[in-house]
Amino acid sequence: TRSSVASVNPYNNQVLGEFAAMSDEAVDFAVGAAHAAFLGWRQTTPADRAAIVGRAGELMLQRLDEFAQLVTLEMGKRITESRDEVRLAADIMRYYGERGPGFLADRPLPAEEGRVVVASRPLGTLLGIMPWNYPCYQVARFAAPNLVAGNTILLKHASNCPQSALALERLFRDAGVPPDGYVNIFVPGGKVGRIIENPLVRGVSLTGSDRAGASVAERAGRNIVKTVLELGGSDPFIVLDAEDLDRTIDAAVTARLSNMGQSCVSPKRFILLTEFFDRFVEGVRQRFAALVPGDPMDPATTLSPLSSEQAAETLVSQVRDTVAQGARLVSGGRRLDRPGAFVQATVLTDVRPGMRAYYEELFGPVAVVYRVANEDEAVGLANDNPYGLGASIFCRDLDRAGRLAERLDVGMVWINHPTSSRPELPFGGIKRSGYGRELSDLGIREFVNEKLIRAY
Ligand code: NDP
Repeated sequence: TRSSVASVNPYNNQVLGEFAAMSDEAVDFAVGAAHAAFLGWRQTTPADRAAIVGRAGELMLQRLDEFAQLVTLEMGKRITESRDEVRLAADIMRYYGERGPGFLADRPLPAEEGRVVVASRPLGTLLGIMPWNYPCYQVARFAAPNLVAGNTILLKHASNCPQSALALERLFRDAGVPPDGYVNIFVPGGKVGRIIENPLVRGVSLTGSDRAGASVAERAGRNIVKTVLELGGSDPFIVLDAEDLDRTIDAAVTARLSNMGQSCVSPKRFILLTEFFDRFVEGVRQRFAALVPGDPMDPATTLSPLSSEQAAETLVSQVRDTVAQGARLVSGGRRLDRPGAFVQATVLTDVRPGMRAYYEELFGPVAVVYRVANEDEAVGLANDNPYGLGASIFCRDLDRAGRLAERLDVGMVWINHPTSSRPELPFGGIKRSGYGRELSDLGIREFVNEKLIRAY
């Protein structure tokens, strides 16, 4: 295992900073401190805590440029997208700052005699294990509702975004969260199991790969600790009519390239009826060919690097193997001939079961386009996948689209719009995409004790 976490700019592979990983003793101390902080934090009211989390949202907006630049430097996202991410993270904090106490209000139940109340009470110290793809949004989504609920947070961020991790810890402290109420811990993923064994950790939330999710859930299960898992996805994007096909192609390309394709809800499998398959493939190919690679700090750049050399190599090998297995490479498929973790935007067709790209998640700018004869085939293909996160359907007839939505084995369906995320909308999946929901009122209920109090 690594003994340090490092910030490396994937645009030019420059090392921006290295931070020593914490010793086991230091981690144990942090867990104890976060638990001690919980004992005080739980005594405050939801309104007090919500005011602090709301203030964190305001502070985040004040620090928008600082956060956006850190994100772009550490994981290569285009600067305009980093700014959008920071705004969304701030919106989530402000949302729970406003709505959180209402979601947590005691709920009286009808009783024949006396009084019955269900009270949402905090569980204790939670461990959040978060990925690099949206360094601010992922943390906001986990920490904001849970701090308002009265839990305290140990945050293990991805090893390649330590500066963002430290800036977030500073943010919550500056907003008024007690010093040990939100604690950043630098440890490599492989050493997280030990922390889950600590009986003071009362819940674990992970966003990341299904491999990491399974490992965390196994450890947590042995210790009877609740988990929420938001894992990968291979979302279908189903096109049922050719009304406004150009706009549908624009939406498809924008969504696939959002965050350079490194999003769990990026559409990864485009499913087209035969009639307009060729037009769609050609439209995507042309738009991909027009992309301009460059520094993600430059707003004119439209093709940014992936998050790391390793990520770029993995993606290229997935494409190479799929083509060797008989798929058709319409365009792209290679690294760019320049420094940095750049991969060409790529279009693949004729992908069939057994090929790597059929079941694996492609975390980057690769569009796999499938051809189907009818709606039943579209549903069969969409559901023939280990993941079940989101899906989008493009179809003018909303009744027809609604019927199709019912048949998809996923957690979220968006009609005539790519899958997206808003503070007030529940987010999460089924199958190997994980379980539990984040955001909305559901997101604040995952790590609370719904305590029944019955009085006669
Ligand atoms: P990982 O799942 O490895 O990383 C996500 C987080 O989990 C990081 O904080 C990581 O820490 C931690 N982690 C890794 N292994 C373990 C473990 N065994 N126990 C506990 N924590 C662990 O994702 P990668 O960055 O390696 O990306 C690999 C693939 O995962 C991507 O190509 C993509 O398919 C998927 N992914 C999906 C995401 C999503 O939004 N759903 C986000 C990120 C990745 P550390 O950095 O120290 O290893």
